[in-house]
Amino acid sequence: MSVRYQNPDALGYYGKFGGAFIPEMLYPNVHELQQQYLQIIQSEKFKNEFNLLLKDYVGRPTPLYYAQRLSNEFNTNIFLKREDLCHTGAHKINNTIGQILLAIALGKKKIIAETGAGQHGVATATVCALNGLDCIVFMGEKDMERQAPNVARMKMLGATVLPAKSGSKTLKDATNEAIRYWINHPDDTHYIIGSVVGPHPYPDMVARFQSVISEEIRWQLKEKTGKENPSHVIACVGGGSNAAGAFYHFLEESGVELIAVEAAGQGVESGFSAATTALGTTGILHGSKSLLMQTPDGQVTEPHSISAGLDYPGIGPMHAHLFESGRARFLSATDDEALKAAFQLAQLEGIIPALESAHALYVLNNLKFKKDDSIVICLSGRGDKDLSAYMQAMEK
Ligand SMILES: *Cc1c(COP(=O)(O)O)cnc(C)c1O
Repeated sequence: MSVRYQNPDALGYYGKFGGAFIPEMLYPNVHELQQQYLQIIQSEKFKNEFNLLLKDYVGRPTPLYYAQRLSNEFNTNIFLKREDLCHTGAHKINNTIGQILLAIALGKKKIIAETGAGQHGVATATVCALNGLDCIVFMGEKDMERQAPNVARMKMLGATVLPAKSGSKTLKDATNEAIRYWINHPDDTHYIIGSVVGPHPYPDMVARFQSVISEEIRWQLKEKTGKENPSHVIACVGGGSNAAGAFYHFLEESGVELIAVEAAGQGVESGFSAATTALGTTGILHGSKSLLMQTPDGQVTEPHSISAGLDYPGIGPMHAHLFESGRARFLSATDDEALKAAFQLAQLEGIIPALESAHALYVLNNLKFKKDDSIVICLSGRGDKDLSAYMQAMEK
């Protein structure tokens, strides 16, 4: 079987997307990773440590739950992959566990990360505490004000949170600060990126760490239905890591329909959106060539979504390739639609989803299913962090 979608070529390209567009001064760090990541993560020692932590610390395997009442509503069979039950409340910890073990294998003593809403920062601070490594999280000054509880969590876990005070004082400024720090501390520091974005080998590395999601789905579905392959897999896409993990082992199975859901914000054409495939063009973001939202002269456009995790102006290169090749279908859901889907899941199944995951749930309304289809939705995270948005929605 030829692998057309799962892994990039030797230079990190998925079709025409990917690569490593980095300042010359970062070359030694990125080159070291490119040379070593596969050998390290495919070693028995690494695999044993990674799998043990996923089991005993993260709480894997996460259940594949047959949602009976939701299935009745749509007259088909819907399974929820419960990443919301992971330690720290979302899939992000799968990646940070993998990357910190890699950093330790490379002899690094210090971890840096950038964070927007703070979810990736918390997942990174968590694994640093677990392993006794120093942790610096760069966060836009404006985001630190908006996301005070996550700043408190990171500090309680022992991390240093440094404000990015330039530009719009949000995620891209935090990313710039993290890169600057890495250039100045190349020997002892590893940079943990939080999604399938960034220069090669990050997209491939993060996809491999998250691929545990679809690895589990396969045997769990077989146990429940007798078949390894679902008819559809649906996941939300910010940078695209939970979708990459949920799609991974089905990418080369052409009978499985893959559906990626972006945040339309207030509407794709409203000027307040994060629907990258609908609005984006090819460019360079965060060190790789991909689709991103930008002005004609290449300035990155400020994205908008009610969910912080989908509020990102690009998608990872694997997803740009899945979009261009037609292997995956890309849909979107608005802020209001996501809220509606979150309340529906809460009241039909007793599960309060993250707002990000609610985007994936909403598109059930836009698709036609057969009675004997089996649909897997990646429930990427839990909704505790979104309670204030849910409270505002109930007051309306
Ligand atoms: C961060 C986050 C996302 C978006 O990130 P991806 O890399 O696209 O998966 C989705 N859901 C939750 C709950 C998140 O925290």
